[in-house]
Amino acid sequence: MIIMKFGGSSLANAERIRHVVDIIKMHIDEKPLIVASAMGDTTDNLLEAVDRALSGKVCIKEIRKLHLATAEELEVNTDAIKELFDELKNLLSGISLIKEFSPRTKDYLVSFGERLSVRIVAGYLNRIGLEAKFFDAWDIGFTSTAVHNDGEILDESFAKINESLGHLENNYAFTPIITGFIAKNKNGNITTLGRGGSDLTASVLGAALHAKEIQVWKDVDGILTTDPRIVKHAQPVKNISFEEATELAYFGAKVLHPRSIVPAMSRKIPVRVKNSYNPTHPGTLILSRLDDKDEMLRVLTFKKNVTVVDIVSTRMLGQYGFLAKVFQIFDEQKISVDMLATSEVSISVTLDNKGNGIEGLKSELEKIANVNIKTGKTMITMVGNVKRSSEILERTFDVLNAGNINVQMISQGASKVNISFIIDDDEADPCIRELHKAFFENDR
Ligand code: ASP
Ligand code: MG
Repeated sequence: MIIMKFGGSSLANAERIRHVVDIIKMHIDEKPLIVASAMGDTTDNLLEAVDRALSGKVCIKEIRKLHLATAEELEVNTDAIKELFDELKNLLSGISLIKEFSPRTKDYLVSFGERLSVRIVAGYLNRIGLEAKFFDAWDIGFTSTAVHNDGEILDESFAKINESLGHLENNYAFTPIITGFIAKNKNGNITTLGRGGSDLTASVLGAALHAKEIQVWKDVDGILTTDPRIVKHAQPVKNISFEEATELAYFGAKVLHPRSIVPAMSRKIPVRVKNSYNPTHPGTLILSRLDDKDEMLRVLTFKKNVTVVDIVSTRMLGQYGFLAKVFQIFDEQKISVDMLATSEVSISVTLDNKGNGIEGLKSELEKIANVNIKTGKTMITMVGNVKRSSEILERTFDVLNAGNINVQMISQGASKVNISFIIDDDEADPCIRELHKAFFENDR
């Protein structure tokens, strides 16, 4: 069996759904299980409908129109989706009356996107003679923690999912179309797995069913060497390790939902990122072990608009407890740190936080240290074979030196797959282009 996950943009309208179904047909011998996100921007549209409801106006016109038009164009029976429109409308009326919108209601509300989508996709498959069944994830065992808006799938789900769908391995009687992103907690309330959470659904499903491969279908040829908005000819990366992919997910490259790699990784199920606009391209394969160990760098990623906080102890050298105090303050101020570099008397950290709470942080830190806050920085992260870190650094500093770019902070992650450094925002684009040239465009 394989898992095929299609995101919202791959399912944005009738034409895109037909195309997705063509792709499913190409893979039908591999017994695909399909995970579908909400169509197009439906999740965002649902959230906007709430804003309107809170100011007294209940309207689902746009959502209704998209789904009805799509179903009609695909000649799918609309009863199942009309039922959901009624339920959605009632929910919004309720919200507009009580003018209250809890995290729990939010999950219930956004769940309509995925529920509508699977009904249409399954309906269309059946209509063209390919037997399919839609499932709301909770009906096949997706149980989450109680946390709303960012739930985690409980371990017990794996066995339940296997019980529900494992039989398809030997008797593939229909193609399951499963809602991404949503689950229920033990109280029976609908939960969601965080924005982009359909990737996590696919990963859990693949792990639970010991799938041969988990395919995440996007609109690019896999994970690219860097952001194509900056380097037009960025290339898809052939293979990447789970560890490296995890780093990427955390370092701002919006390839996969950050937590989604974990279930696949722990059961060693390969994940392939593929392009629905270019379905025969192999895409990027994420594996637990790589053969081409000697490839130096895989991806160059970056985060702009980062804030750097330099903290210099006002006492002299060798003060124990200083780090502890500093991090206690971050903890109290609920500000999380991305990158970190220290010397005996100073600490530099980066925050990607858009200035929220920085004043409070500063005044607390100033009780024990001199604090200097610098904004407008870019963090460049090089993900690759850090066994060759000296070579990576050498080549990197050649480029920086030639471009007269001053590095303001540098750190090598404990995971041993990334090196990050900080430069000014206005130096970022040329720097990324030059680095890309040095690592990926030369015939070395
Ligand atoms: N529809 C949800 C979102 O837009 C989940 C997903 O797309 O994976 O975040
Ligand atoms: Mg979406």
